Amino acid sequence: MDSADPATSTPTDRPPWERMARGGGLLGPDGRLSGTVFEEMSRLAARTGAINLGQGFPDVDGPPEMLDAAAAALREGGNQYSPVAGLPRLQEAVAEHQRRFYGIELDPATGVVVTVGASEGLAASLLAFVEPGDEVVVLEPHYDLYAAVVEFAGARLVPVPLEPPHFTPDPDRLAAAFGPRTRAVVLNDPHNPTGTVLDDAVLARVAALAAEHDCVVVTDEVYEHLCYPGRHRPLAALPGAFERTLTVSSVGKTFSATGWRVGWVSGPAHLVGPVRATKAYLTHSAATPLQLGAAAALDLPDEFYAGLEADFRRRRDVLVAGLAAAGAEPFEPQGTFFVVADVGRLCERHGVGDAEALAPVLAERAGVVGVPVAALASAGHRDLYASWMRFSFGKRPEVLEEAARRLAA
Ligand code: PMP
Ligand code: GLN
Repeated sequence: MDSADPATSTPTDRPPWERMARGGGLLGPDGRLSGTVFEEMSRLAARTGAINLGQGFPDVDGPPEMLDAAAAALREGGNQYSPVAGLPRLQEAVAEHQRRFYGIELDPATGVVVTVGASEGLAASLLAFVEPGDEVVVLEPHYDLYAAVVEFAGARLVPVPLEPPHFTPDPDRLAAAFGPRTRAVVLNDPHNPTGTVLDDAVLARVAALAAEHDCVVVTDEVYEHLCYPGRHRPLAALPGAFERTLTVSSVGKTFSATGWRVGWVSGPAHLVGPVRATKAYLTHSAATPLQLGAAAALDLPDEFYAGLEADFRRRRDVLVAGLAAAGAEPFEPQGTFFVVADVGRLCERHGVGDAEALAPVLAERAGVVGVPVAALASAGHRDLYASWMRFSFGKRPEVLEEAARRLAA
């Protein structure tokens, strides 16, 4: 069983920063401290002049309504601390967004806390509830931050692999990951890096397991509006799930503002209160003028959100076709702005053993950078993803077309 996997438990005699770096993949087995894999791939792109489809961030500015509201707030004296839980204007906009799209009713004052990006929302949610010796279930491959925060908490990550080529969780493995020490489960849906959107049966199963084991569910929904089968379904909207679920999102992906560092956590007051208490001593509060911009963005009409989905679906199709034409085998993503592809044939063609070794070769020879998926898996499961590479289509269509041309050439 996964919980016996020594690769997922870090010796507790190491200092906190070192355990975090190891958990988050910053510290290699050789003890070398690197940047995150995303930073590393962005550096590779900068060094080689390659198109950066590695670190996921948009290459355009967000909606003008959002930029104007933030600029006005900057000029009109909105430059001091906000309340710890965020400006009421943004708490209300988040609550209204959850009602409009998902039918979830929240008290804005007690059910929403504004955070410094989804990153702080995830960290505060886990640190508020997870204790040393606890276990946290997560689907993998996964966003690197989860493992690092679980290490900070002195807890242990229990990864459930999404196996290629379908990347859906095996129900028995999922159930086996839960046990008497499980305190929380982190569910990222739509899922980075695989682009999987979890179906209702899986969501219901996770909710049932969480109830059975009395644990908190932390959902990472930063890609909620990049969901191609139709509308995203938050786990918190499932019958009975709301009371144990913290829902995390941010402006980064929906509004092309990854640099703003504005996010939020929502849920029942008895869970959101402890998150607010924790985040008070991480950062106090998020940037005040940008919170007003975020509120204006959330208030945008339905057409904005529908346009986003249609636009990203077209970009996805360009990159998926480009990867297939280049001899890779892409898995068509149902959500996010990432596509994972089996690059085994490209590895053979370039005489390298795996996607990690292919990354610098592809940067030099094709002028395109992706992220080796194995870097986002725990040591015990890396082999599953050795031939897989993640590429982002969060870029302008002309950039994606150029990347597709380069890959094919
Ligand atoms: N979760 C996932 C799955 C992500 O891909 C990212 C990166 N954007 C984050 C969380 C962090 O979000 P933020 O930039 O809002 O902190
Ligand atoms: N979320 C982005 C990705 O997965 C990167 C964020 C980061 O650099 N930490 O590529």
